[in-house]
Amino acid sequence: MVETPASSRECHRRGCDEPAAFVVRERYQEETGKGAVEAEAVLCRAHTAEEHPTNLDGVYAEYVFRVDPLPEAVSDDASSNRSNE
Ligand SMILES: [Zn+2]
Repeated sequence: MVETPASSRECHRRGCDEPAAFVVRERYQEETGKGAVEAEAVLCRAHTAEEHPTNLDGVYAEYVFRVDPLPEAVSDDASSNRSNE
């Protein structure tokens, strides 16, 4: 049910059409004991800042709450002087 179509990289929040800058992932154990669930959402910077773990009831040994920058949102000035020949 949670799908992130690769084509649309707009903020996942309803009513927000900012370009997504981060992917927020949360992996938790479902109450039913069916196993791990991984929820993923791409969000703009402002909405990523508002994100927080929402499934701490489902915490387990491999629980993950993680924010990764989207590759296209990263300005790579820092790596542009890498030797590239
Ligand atoms: Zn947003």
